[in-house]
Amino acid sequence: MPLRYDPDKLGTHEVEIAITHCGICHSDIHLIANDWGISQYPFIPGHEIIGTVSAFGPEVRSLEVGQRVGLGWQSNSCGHCEWCMAGEENLCPDSEGTCVHRHGGYADLVRADARFVVPIPDALESENAAPLLCAGITVYNPMRIRGVNPSSRVGIVGIGGLGHLAIQFARIFGAEVTAFSTSVAKEEEARALGAHYFVNSRESKAMKDVAGSLDFILTTVNADQDWGTFVQALRPNGTLWFVGVPPSPVSVHAFPLISGLRTIGGSPVGSPARLRDMLDVAARHGVKAKTELFPMEKANEAIEKVKKGKVRYRAVLAN
Ligand code: NAP
Ligand code: ZN
Repeated sequence: MPLRYDPDKLGTHEVEIAITHCGICHSDIHLIANDWGISQYPFIPGHEIIGTVSAFGPEVRSLEVGQRVGLGWQSNSCGHCEWCMAGEENLCPDSEGTCVHRHGGYADLVRADARFVVPIPDALESENAAPLLCAGITVYNPMRIRGVNPSSRVGIVGIGGLGHLAIQFARIFGAEVTAFSTSVAKEEEARALGAHYFVNSRESKAMKDVAGSLDFILTTVNADQDWGTFVQALRPNGTLWFVGVPPSPVSVHAFPLISGLRTIGGSPVGSPARLRDMLDVAARHGVKAKTELFPMEKANEAIEKVKKGKVRYRAVLAN
């Protein structure tokens, strides 16, 4: 059932976007089910949004009505804490999610603080750029933080919405890329996206064969795995980095961390500055999501397909 509500007066620093496209991120699925205990109902998911500016508040100077823009996971931050002042708004303790305690992008219109509304480069098409607003920045940011480069051996775990973009970014950074997947049917496409190697992560022999071979493993999986085998796959100084959210605590032995100076980390989406940088890189190097388009009215159908793991690789809703 569509929900109608009165959004009240537009804030002085706010922008209203007439939505044309919105990707379905697996975080929306977690939020619909209240997996993280933070959802409020009625709930409108959606945080991979592209549309055009339909209105803005009197203090907004950066945008024009009609301009094509994007909005990702974050829609506001306090603007004055240590992290906001350093340009790391994504780490602000008062960060506001686009669809956490406010209504998101499976809709006609959405609002956000102007600092989080970014112009979309002309070279990008809205349908396959919408997923860059969350999935893209989430995988791009850690590779920039860790300085992935041509000498890096990078593993990407889980070839879904995030993972299929991670392969593309790792490849354009010049890394040697290994895709880890539970779906052998994805091998050909993973290689076409840029993976040099493909490992079936359900095969224990294949997992043993990659022991000690990777510098940086980015996991995008939303399920529990034997994380110890991924730690074993790291070279000395290597890092296992979480962006996907498994349901259970991550349990590994300390010894492989200690003996090889290996680390475990994680990250949220990137700052607005990094988001602009990522879009520019995607535009210049041809990074795009492989998408399946659904009309907005078919959002429930699209969600069911995402839940079943049947989408290759991102469902996008269009008005
Ligand atoms: P997705 O499109 O559904 O892809 C997830 C992939 O994980 C699947 O394609 C599958 O890849 C693998 N997978 C699923 N179930 C599995 C299982 N039981 N065992 C092993 N592998 C399994 O999801 P997504 O949109 O990429 O999101 C992935 C995760 O990232 C979610 O937890 C989401 O909440 C999180 N996320 C985090 C951030 C952040 O800021 N850190 C941002 C966005 C999303 P294979 O078929 O290749 O095995
Ligand atoms: Zn997301």
